[in-house]
Order: sequence, then C-alpha cells, then structure tokens
Amino acid sequence: MKRLYVFLPLLMAGYTGTVLTAQGQTKADVIVVNGKVTTVDGERETQAVAIAGNKVLFTGTDAQVLKLKTKQTKVIDAGGRRVIPGLFDSHLHVIRGGRFYNTELRWDGVSSLKRALEMLKEQAQRTPAGQWVRVVGGWNEYQFDERRLPTLAEINAATGNVPAFILYLYGKAWLNKAGLQQLGIDGNTPNPAGGLIEKDDEGNPTGLLVAEPNAFILYSTLAKLPELTTAEKVNSTLQYMTELNRLGVTAVMDAGGGFQNFPDDYGITDSLNRLGKISVRLPYFLFAQKKGTELDDFRKWTGMVEIDDHGDNGINGVDYYVRGGGENLVMDAADFENFMFPRPELPASLEGNLKAVVQLLVKKRWPFRLHATYNESISRALSVIEAVDKETPLNGLAWLIDHAETVSEENMQRIMALGGGIAVQHRMAYQGESFIHRYGKKAALAAPPVKRMLEIGLPVGLGTDGTRVASYNPWVTLYWITTGKSIGGSQVMAKEHTLDRLTALRLLTAGGYSLIKEKGKGSIRPGNYADLVILNKDYLTIPEGEISSISSVLTMVDGKVVYGDDVFKSLAPAALPVIPSWSPVKYFGGYQYSK
Ligand SMILES: [Zn+2]
Repeated sequence: MKRLYVFLPLLMAGYTGTVLTAQGQTKADVIVVNGKVTTVDGERETQAVAIAGNKVLFTGTDAQVLKLKTKQTKVIDAGGRRVIPGLFDSHLHVIRGGRFYNTELRWDGVSSLKRALEMLKEQAQRTPAGQWVRVVGGWNEYQFDERRLPTLAEINAATGNVPAFILYLYGKAWLNKAGLQQLGIDGNTPNPAGGLIEKDDEGNPTGLLVAEPNAFILYSTLAKLPELTTAEKVNSTLQYMTELNRLGVTAVMDAGGGFQNFPDDYGITDSLNRLGKISVRLPYFLFAQKKGTELDDFRKWTGMVEIDDHGDNGINGVDYYVRGGGENLVMDAADFENFMFPRPELPASLEGNLKAVVQLLVKKRWPFRLHATYNESISRALSVIEAVDKETPLNGLAWLIDHAETVSEENMQRIMALGGGIAVQHRMAYQGESFIHRYGKKAALAAPPVKRMLEIGLPVGLGTDGTRVASYNPWVTLYWITTGKSIGGSQVMAKEHTLDRLTALRLLTAGGYSLIKEKGKGSIRPGNYADLVILNKDYLTIPEGEISSISSVLTMVDGKVVYGDDVFKSLAPAALPVIPSWSPVKYFGGYQYSK
C-alpha cells in the first residue's frame, strides 16, 4: 500500500488517472494552486498541492493537481506567492512563554531606543495597580539606532510609580524604584549565588541585577512578578500560538525552562489540548528544576508518562506529548549563555549526577536533550554519555545537544558516533558582539560550526531559543544563518560558514524532525502531514536585509488553516480578543516591525 502511495504520483505524471491516500481517498479536500512551492523534498519545486484530510495527497502543476478537484474541494489561490513547509522551531520555550505572553511588552524588532521607551511609557500608563510593566528579553542594544542600552534614569522616567522589570537576554535586568520597593529589595538584600544586586555609594540598590554568569538572579526575580488568571493564561497561550502561526511556525520542540514545573505548569496547554485548540505541534521535554532532586524527579516523571504513547496525537491531530528529558538534566551541567562573563567552570560532581540521570533515561528509552553552550561542557557530557552507552547501549535512541556554539570537530565526531544530533539557535545574532568582545573575531567565525556539522552528516535542527535569550522570530534565525550577521548588522559568522537559503530552510523544517527521528513531517510530499505556509514575501529571492521581516499570510497545520491574513483572512478562525484589557499584546501585538 505504502509503495503504491509513493509511486502513484509518479505514474500520475503520465496521467494514469487515480491518486490514492492511505485511507483510499482519491480526491482533494483542499487544493493550493498558483504558488511557488518549495517542497523541501530534495530540490523539488512545484506549483500546486492537493490535500486530503490531514495529509498531502499530491504535488504538481496546477493542471495536474486540479484534476483531483471535486465540487466540495476548497481551492486556495496562492497568487504566485512562495509556499513552504511549516516551520519547526526545534528549541523554543513556548509552553512557559504562553503563560506570560499577554503580560509582556515586546521590544523584539524595535529599531530605536526612543521608540522602545515610548512603548514602555505608554504601557506603564495603562498598567493597573498590582500589575507590572515588563519587557522580558528578545532584544539587544545593537538593534537600536542609538546602539546603546537604556539607563535606569530613562526607565524610571518612563514608568514612574508603576513597578517595572526589563530583562536583557540572560545577562542582566533593571528594576525601577517602584519595582525594588514592591519586591522589598533594599540595602540589606544579599546577592544570590552567581548574581549581583548593584548597590550605589550609599549601599542602596540601583535597580541593576547582573548574572555573573548565573541567570538564577534574573528568572527568580521574574518569577516573583504577578501571574495572570487561569482564563487569561489560556488566552495568552492561544495568542502566543497565533503569533507563532503568523510567523509560519507549525511545530515547536519545547525545551522546558526555569520555573516550568511538570505537571503543574502544563495545565493550560493540557486543557487546550483536550479542547483540540493547540495550533502548533508540541513535542515537549521535561526540564529538571531543582538541584539535588533531578534524579528523583526524572524517576517520578518516567513513572508518570508512557514516552512512546503519543496518546491520540492530540485531540485535533496536532501533536502534544512528552517527548523526553531536558534541556536541563542536572543543575551541575548548566553553563548558561552569557558571554558578558567568562565561561563557568562546572563542578566536579557533574559526571556522577549527569550519569545517573542519563542512565535512567536510556533505560526508560526516553529521548533526551542537553543544554551545552561551550565545548568544554560538551566534552564532559560526552564522556558521561559514552560511559552510559557502554553499559546501557543507546541503540538509536534520539538524543541531542542544544546550542553548541563552540563545539569542536572532535566532539562533533563523538556526537555522531553516539547517534546524536545538535539543535542550533540564533543566539549569536543577539550576543555576537559580546562574544567577539570576550573571545575575539576569529573564535566567532564559525560559532556554531553548522556547515561543518552538515558536512559530517550530523542531524541538525534550527530554532530560536526564544523568548528571553533571543527573539522567537524564526525569520531572524534564517537571516542570521544565511548572512552571518547579528541583529545589529555586525558580521559575526564568516560568510563561508553560512548556509544557502534552501539548506537553512531545510534545517528549520525537516531538520527538527530528524533530531527526534520522526517521519512524515517537515516537507511537502505525498503522504506527509499537511503543514504548510504561504509567505508574504519570497524568501528565496528577496534582498537579505528583508528576510527578518517575512511572515505568513496563510498557515496550515494538519490540513487545517490556523492563521490567515490579507486575502486569506476569511479562511482562518476569527481573531480572539486579547485579555486582560491592559495587555500590551492588545495594543502592540508581538514582534515589532520598523515602519
Ligand atoms: Zn538552553
């Protein structure tokens, strides 16, 4: 049956007359015509796509595909636009991000500090008592015309008595005076481990919090800010998924995150899944939260979840299930990603603690992923995984290293030998200047060495690591990896180490699925799930400077239109009003585009 399915479209080329789905369907429910369809199925490019149920039935010319039309078939005219497979961000903190999205004012994409402070002032004025105005990562000073950070004086002037928290990647944050007061931070407040509460000459906190380089000071402070109500969190999560759909994202490999506790903090997405309202495929990983209880927590979690039981793949056919452990397996392995400070030396207890957890996961056949920015951390982690493999063979179990900015040739070969992969994100687009400042231009030329990873045959997935240490906009990722430039326009990666646009797109579609060894997704080909996007601009031909401004005009997940704009608006579900009424998302939306 499967063989028939694959060869029949080829026979069709000769118009033998019938195309068949696994379910025996021969006619299309939906047809997209008049497109420039980049299938990511090899180099194959075509004009039209036929969809039956939630699967691609056939791809070919308009004439070929329209033969599969019935009176009931919905025909969508792409208007000559570029059509691509849905984007799969293989490292994003979407489940945690959704819980807070409607509280956060986004400076992602804002092109001047003047505008950023105006937005801050406007948002502070509408923020009700008891709530905060907050900007939580996803920006840096080099995106601003002024190419500088805001001052505490400017922040206090813009926010007045409304408590404010502004996060700068995972390097530092600013609290305004009202915020310091609200949190009871004063001259007697001690510095947390690996962090600094900056004090003035009189010993009073200035408002600046610094990760040195431990980011715990930052996300533990953020965790003290008021949360939304359950109904608002549901709305916030739906708004965030729609924002991702607006960017052409149809799937995310969620990496957990600090203060994202299982199962409690998964209640919102659990309930949305039960309602069939998840609009982004969501295989998610469980992130160890507490030093010293990591092994116990994974024992508990592996006892609670059948890892290969994808349930019903999500009520509405959109994946939502636990896919494995990580990105944080043990606190000892956390090497952060703060290039404003030296690489941290990881404790001697790392190997023992990490081995116990990895061994448990391998025994339970749980795929796993591990956060590791620096090659030195990767070397130690690999020694552990190699040791586990000797005792409890991995045998093709999916596993990966996240980030790997400074991974060496030798360690790439070791990952390869253990059947692992690497998930890469555009963090250097946000920290390239800091990295060069600390390690020099030469060290940044191939950091991370993505092209070399592909040359040696490593599975590689691209992503953003949004929403804090970088923006969640995957088009910034494609801009970065095809140009080698930071969001501030600095040439960080050498041009010869960048990727061509089609290869880069492949890593942000099919790439993620190769990391978790999943078939049937990531390219537009017969038999694959129907996840596709019609773009507002032609990614393959526009000037490089415009890549970050690309978005979707129609996004389809599992054969259903989840987002529509422009002429396709009427095909999509109606936009959900944003709550609460003071939410910055209601007034500014998400990613900002300079006028
Ligand atoms: Zn990470």
